[in-house]
Amino acid sequence: MAALPVKVAIVGGGVTGLSLAYFLTRKGHRVTVFEKESHLGGLAATFPFENTRLEKLYHHLFSTDREILHLIAEAGLLSEVVWSRSSMGFRTQGKSYPFTSPFDLLNFSAISLRSRFRLGLLSLKSKRIKDWQKLSSVRASDWLKAEAGEEAYRVVWEPLLFAKFGKYSNEVPAGWVWARLNARAASRGIVSERLGYLRGSFQILWDRLAERIKAGGGEILLSQSIEKAAELSAFDKIILTQAPPKGLVRYLGNICVVLETDKKVGDYYWLNIGEPGFAFCALIEHNNAFEGRAIYLSNYLDQDDPLWDKKDDEILKLYLKDLLRIKPDLQYDRSWVFRERFAQPVIGLNYQIPPFEISPGKVYMVNNAQIYPQDRGLNDSCKLARRFSDIM
Ligand SMILES: Cc1cc2nc3c(=O)[nH]c(=O)nc-3n(C[C@H](O)[C@H](O)[C@H](O)COP(=O)(O)OP(=O)(O)OC[C@H]3O[C@@H](n4cnc5c(N)ncnc54)[C@H](O)[C@@H]3O)c2cc1C
Repeated sequence: MAALPVKVAIVGGGVTGLSLAYFLTRKGHRVTVFEKESHLGGLAATFPFENTRLEKLYHHLFSTDREILHLIAEAGLLSEVVWSRSSMGFRTQGKSYPFTSPFDLLNFSAISLRSRFRLGLLSLKSKRIKDWQKLSSVRASDWLKAEAGEEAYRVVWEPLLFAKFGKYSNEVPAGWVWARLNARAASRGIVSERLGYLRGSFQILWDRLAERIKAGGGEILLSQSIEKAAELSAFDKIILTQAPPKGLVRYLGNICVVLETDKKVGDYYWLNIGEPGFAFCALIEHNNAFEGRAIYLSNYLDQDDPLWDKKDDEILKLYLKDLLRIKPDLQYDRSWVFRERFAQPVIGLNYQIPPFEISPGKVYMVNNAQIYPQDRGLNDSCKLARRFSDIM
């Protein structure tokens, strides 16, 4: 047990760094957050949009995201959470299919009726599996083919895994898919999931946490890139929340295009693109669930993808060309291109969660590569931060 107060440096002002700084400040520690950007929020950072703000990368909450909802409540912002029914679509073979409810699955004519049943049963079967650790050494592709059948794998799961993990998708363990299936089933209810969003964007949460940290005697230093823990030797404890160093965990990046428009592409909040050759893998129509005239086109890419070297207008052109395949007459007012190099840790077979402690008693790592088997997200980052603050 550390003696109070401890002088703590936290590197990174994303949800992990901010929630950790908030928890530790509340425990009486003297905390300083170092953020390399000129703003807070990390992957959930925002930009000025219309007369409010909007996430550079689409963000929502699930009703089962207890940990982050708890933090929002502690920050006095629960009344700002708005809820909306999710509507999902899946595009394959040149057509967009509704993919929200079990009834949609039954009508999903891109695969045989037998495959639809097997795909539907997968969620039920997953719920019964308790010993998920065994699935950590099984390839998701093998497990899905065995459980849902070759056709459902080829048409639905293979493109979904490829969209998220690209060339690493064959290394993804079945445990990761199992956790996703169970998480979605838990939040779905009978027909569809409820998605949450903060009125005024997630920025209001980052701002409120920053206020609370400062009120508790903490400091937040923006535009401060910390390259080596040694730079912070004046602190008793140093906690790194950014992506871990190269070699420990691989990351995919994300390039996201945002369009400001009154028009709709379709009726879904989220359309997964399950056919090859598209420049983006998901189309998120924020305006179909929440206020704000925004559409996101998202793509995950490897660090050596040639797209990183392209200029914003070239990327926009590539994404738009494919969007117009879905909606040839789409008009928009403004566009933005956002790039994030460390968007998604690559979870491989027999994934070993990296430990917190790097240098005994002094330097720690608390980041989204320590979230497994769940997919990384705001809720689990906040949970991780709370767990770490409890043991510190
Ligand atoms: C496209 C996309 C969509 C997503 N959608 C959702 C969603 O709908 N719901 C959800 O719950 N989650 C979503 N997520 C996941 C969520 O954004 C992340 O899990 C979460 O934001 C991770 O927070 P973090 O603080 O761990 O890391 P980050 O947000 O990456 O924060 C790390 C911070 O460290 C800073 N930093 C890095 N290096 C240094 C340095 N050397 N010195 C100082 N500072 C440094 C960075 O600038 C950054 O601010 C999404 C992620 C992506 C990529």
